Amino acid sequence: MNLPKLTQPIHELTLPSTGEKVLFRPFTVKEEKLLLMVIDDEPEAQVRALRQVLNNCLLPNKLGKTIDVSDLAIFDMDYIWLKIRSKSVEEIVTIPFECRQALPEGETLHNIDGTTRDYCGTVVQVPINLDKIEIKKNPKNTPKIELQDGVGILLRYPTFETLQQITKLKETNNIDSSFDVIFECTVMLFESNGKTYEKEHIDKKEFIEFLEALSQAQFQKIMDFFETLPVVRHEVHFNCPRCRHEADVVIEGTRSFLASDSAMKV
Ligand SMILES: [Zn+2]
Repeated sequence: MNLPKLTQPIHELTLPSTGEKVLFRPFTVKEEKLLLMVIDDEPEAQVRALRQVLNNCLLPNKLGKTIDVSDLAIFDMDYIWLKIRSKSVEEIVTIPFECRQALPEGETLHNIDGTTRDYCGTVVQVPINLDKIEIKKNPKNTPKIELQDGVGILLRYPTFETLQQITKLKETNNIDSSFDVIFECTVMLFESNGKTYEKEHIDKKEFIEFLEALSQAQFQKIMDFFETLPVVRHEVHFNCPRCRHEADVVIEGTRSFLASDSAMKV
């Protein structure tokens, strides 16, 4: 028997890094199952599943061009994920916030497990419209960096893999791996006379010598690019119904919008 086949609506979004229009469909029940299966897995497995679902959901544009998820800047991927989820599940997600306002001196409250606490502890579910979330760009974040007298470097935004390298680098403070990241993200070097050196023609050893010859200030200009990357960001106003404690909370990164089992402390 041939059962009826349903078609899915097609939506459009604007890629934050390039302003390009991208078409997508919502994810299906089967694809949602795939995402739920990896929810307790390692981040790498989660990203693999997420990537597969995004690749399925992104459609060729009017010119027949398809976006390859592994080439995307990390904040583009975050943004696409929030928009697809918004159209697939629901636009409004609720995020629990726990009020950590200190109680007046000497007062305590009882927890369910019999222990006591010296803060308010009220949990408030704050609704957030995923469609309202945008990418926050830092005006200092520029991919074209002049180092000296018209000589400079043109960088591109890191992908998920390069971002993982950056995280490791922050942990170990390993300057060699920061050279690797810069090399990975280099589009070209340029000179004031218009001469350019495209990355595919640059020898890595020579490139590292070029970086090593920079002054601290010049090197920091390059690092500023990586330290001010655009990010998915949303501001929420929290208002505790019990103790009237108020706060503006900034939520950053996709995970904070979706992992709703543990409350954010306010
Ligand atoms: Zn409170």
